[in-house]
Amino acid sequence: MNKPWFQVAIGLGSNLADPAEQINTAVQSLQALNSIRQLTLSDLWRSKPQGPQDQPDFVNAVCVCETCLTPEALLVCLQAIEKNQGRIKRRHWGERLIDLDILLYADQQIEQPGLVIPHPCMTQRDFVLIPLAQVWPQDHLPGLGRLEELMAQLDQSFILSPSSTELN
Ligand code: AMP
Repeated sequence: MNKPWFQVAIGLGSNLADPAEQINTAVQSLQALNSIRQLTLSDLWRSKPQGPQDQPDFVNAVCVCETCLTPEALLVCLQAIEKNQGRIKRRHWGERLIDLDILLYADQQIEQPGLVIPHPCMTQRDFVLIPLAQVWPQDHLPGLGRLEELMAQLDQSFILSPSSTELN
């Protein structure tokens, strides 16, 4: 029997070693998987760090794709990509080569040790919602409400420059 495919949104972030290149490498790794198809990447957005300020600015993006992996298996895959790319994690909300988060997985709401979907805090992060709005095909986010309303409720701004055209 054919496996079902589910629409997912994945958040990508990097602030070390040519962040835009790190994001592109991670996207290529995702695209190389048989269990991922129809991947669309948002623009790349430069944003200031949410955590400690004595670290470089981040580049953030969101990709939407379809997967036949379960949420748990997708997380394992993302963690393997992070590890292969050379994950350096020095401190909470600190600098990182590449960070991959499952933001949304179809209309599922999951709360289990090590996996929470929708991703916690995503509604407070403009560097997630703004790129997500570029690629998520519906104006409703499962379990969260209307994207437009969520964006209107943002009370903090991290994004510094509007698009990848200003990255170089
Ligand atoms: P961070 O490096 O800050 O993204 O945190 C990674 C940790 O968050 C891992 O231990 C994951 O198990 C956990 N986690 C919980 N929910 C998610 C999610 N939706 N996507 C990615 N990691 C998650």
